Amino acid sequence: MREEIRKSEKLNIISDLAASIAHEVRNPLTVVRGFIQLSQSSMDEVNKGYMRTAIAELDRAEFIISDYLNFAKPEFEHLEHVDVGHEIQQIVSFMTSFATMQAVELRFDAQESLFVFADKVKLKQVIINLVKNSVEAIRHGGYVEVRALRDRDRVRIHVIDDGEGMTPAQTERLGKPFYSTKEKGTGLGLMVTFRIVEAMQGTLTFHSEKGRGTKATISIPYSQQRK
Ligand code: ADP
Ligand code: MG
Repeated sequence: MREEIRKSEKLNIISDLAASIAHEVRNPLTVVRGFIQLSQSSMDEVNKGYMRTAIAELDRAEFIISDYLNFAKPEFEHLEHVDVGHEIQQIVSFMTSFATMQAVELRFDAQESLFVFADKVKLKQVIINLVKNSVEAIRHGGYVEVRALRDRDRVRIHVIDDGEGMTPAQTERLGKPFYSTKEKGTGLGLMVTFRIVEAMQGTLTFHSEKGRGTKATISIPYSQQRK
């Protein structure tokens, strides 16, 4: 128990830190981007090309900040009734090209009228993080399936892949900050994902087998939609 408390205190400190870094770093990025754009008009084509690259890299930094650090804070600003199936369908359609590039087939199977009372943006972030990891775990073609169903007073969302899988020791480390086996990984995706799910009174569990694949399961409270 004491170990658990210490772990969640540590995560609190990290997510507070992440949120303030996100805020502090974003401002100078915006300023730099603005000055680059201003100075571009007086440049020749070669230098304009360099500046375009600089802007693209700044945008990538901004993307990483919003993708990971911004969501580290589990406070919910905007709660509403969210149709889980509808959101999954949207996610699957916008991530299809990303999956196809890695020769991964994205499948989707969700019950109708699966409502939860949640922050839509953050719920989507959670599912996107899991789907992204699943796609990245597939080496030579395969599938990722997102399933959503109601189980009494809970909604369960499964993200299943037939990717490289994990050993029990690796599965144990999921969600630990900066744990990543990827060359360009941040190891922040699942830390943030666990935090968000926890704040939704939900649970996130993983079943994985090395060489066979992984199944991530989110369980969150079902909510009857108000008429
Ligand atoms: P990142 O994706 O930046 O590495 P994450 O926190 O999202 O960070 O994931 C941490 C690590 O967990 C990954 O580097 C990978 O080793 C492992 N992992 C997560 N999801 C899966 C999965 N579906 N299959 C295999 N390994 C996974
Ligand atoms: Mg990830």
